[in-house]
Amino acid sequence: MPKKDYNTFSKFFLGRCIVNSIAQLAGLVKREVLVEGHFVFTSGVHGLHYLDKTQLSKELLVQIAYTIATMSDSGVQAVVAPEEGAVPLGEEVARQLSIFVQEDIPFFRAKKGVNGFYLSEKAKAFIRGKSILAVEDNTTTGGTLAAVVSLLRKAGADVVGAAVLWNRGSITAGIVNVPWLFCVIDEPLPHFEPGPETCPGCRDNIPLSAELGHALK
Ligand SMILES: [Zn+2]
Repeated sequence: MPKKDYNTFSKFFLGRCIVNSIAQLAGLVKREVLVEGHFVFTSGVHGLHYLDKTQLSKELLVQIAYTIATMSDSGVQAVVAPEEGAVPLGEEVARQLSIFVQEDIPFFRAKKGVNGFYLSEKAKAFIRGKSILAVEDNTTTGGTLAAVVSLLRKAGADVVGAAVLWNRGSITAGIVNVPWLFCVIDEPLPHFEPGPETCPGCRDNIPLSAELGHALK
């Protein structure tokens, strides 16, 4: 479905020239959110990079959403993103698509419940039989995105594609089971089992970050 060359998308953003390539946009995102150090992730593995999304500026969020909207087919009728992290991006993608097509493209959140993700009755009623774009902010295994895609299909939606800000696990459209997958940043961030034999951070005695990640505070 992406019809445009990834590196030559429109450089005009609401009348202002902002970025003229995905690579440039990716560089700006990295500068804002990528922190180097020694981190523990939820699953217990260690890594040398952390994506601090709280540092992402509103202006850059809008540019990312604009880029995703330009890469998407004009036939998208609604945008869905999983709670909580991907919601601001999903909302903004829907807003940018609405500007493009001059009609309201709604955003719905895939809500997080005790038994996985679910959709509101309003969302289910709207998306049945419609062309839906799934949006995620960053993905390692693709598990959350695949769960959202499956949820949408069960609700009768036609999932036309998925967009991810940072694909850090080299996932593919096939893994997520969508016709196409667009990633603003397609760059793996390695993770390691804790210990000096396996983790370069442990080996080099870099202190674990107490502010970011899940190290004991
Ligand atoms: Zn380590």
